Amino acid sequence: MNKYSFREIEKQGGTDMEITKIIIPTPYDVGDVNAFLVKGEALSIFDVGTKTPTAYEALVHGIKNAGYQLSDIEQVILTHHHPDHAGWIEAFPNARILGHEYIDYWMNKEELLSYRDDFYELQLKKQAVPEEYIQKIIQIRRRMDLYGNTPLTQFIKDRDEIPGHPGLIAYYTPGHAQSHFIFYNQKSKEVIGGDLLLEKIASNPLIEPPVDLSFDRPKSLIQYHESLKFLTSLDITKLYSGHGNDIVDVKELVDVRIQKDLLRTNQVYEILHEPKTVYEVTKELYPNANDYQLGLTLSKTQGYLDLLVKNERIRCEQVGEYELYSRL
Ligand SMILES: [Zn+2]
Ligand SMILES: [Zn+2]
Repeated sequence: MNKYSFREIEKQGGTDMEITKIIIPTPYDVGDVNAFLVKGEALSIFDVGTKTPTAYEALVHGIKNAGYQLSDIEQVILTHHHPDHAGWIEAFPNARILGHEYIDYWMNKEELLSYRDDFYELQLKKQAVPEEYIQKIIQIRRRMDLYGNTPLTQFIKDRDEIPGHPGLIAYYTPGHAQSHFIFYNQKSKEVIGGDLLLEKIASNPLIEPPVDLSFDRPKSLIQYHESLKFLTSLDITKLYSGHGNDIVDVKELVDVRIQKDLLRTNQVYEILHEPKTVYEVTKELYPNANDYQLGLTLSKTQGYLDLLVKNERIRCEQVGEYELYSRL
């Protein structure tokens, strides 16, 4: 099968949703991303791929195979702001664009670029990351050309019903991204899940600036675990995942992900036989990671440390510019 070809996965007789999965290549390690074309009272697409020419081709091809053109799409709905999901928002001339208010912070590049740089610099300094790496990580985060730059038409809030899709409810599920929503069909009990739960890999609880644009960092892994627990409280027949295959056994996979994090958290506790900074713990926890992966591994380590602080096993003290973690 051609990499860019679409795969029609479900037509529900007699119900109100037809879902077509469109597989889109990305320039990232994660591989392809999935967009979902949903026909209800409105014709909507959930996520739109990275802003690259090959991704555009895949989108056009997938939509055409489903019997439509880009101009037929009435709504673009975003699970979250990451560029593999929110890149091609301006490819649809007649579509309204819906997503979390936070997405506008990313689309509205110029104004917030310096705020974001300052936020990351402060966090990396607290983690005691050497100066040479701080600038590198900020440069990687600054790469904005793969993002779309159209403002949203409408902000989605927690528990909103999606226009044109009666019974399709948005649930705010932060952790992997501060803008993250899943969309739950109350009738078919199917979920469009974005990056909340992926079949093959764990979602990274990325450190991102908070929704209120303060400098207080959200505790991403704690948020993420809460979002996963919320997911298991829903009665789900199938989860359409942002990368890879659909997931049927949601509870089992959530359990696997949370157990793995708890194991890692215990490892971090072992590493803290003497007080250490986030950077020092990261170097021990991920000895083989390269410089390019440092931003991601720091996010993961920070998450495990946050969990240990929350569970009152360790404490965090400010020492000069950086934070030092030690056992209680
Ligand atoms: Zn993502
Ligand atoms: Zn993704």
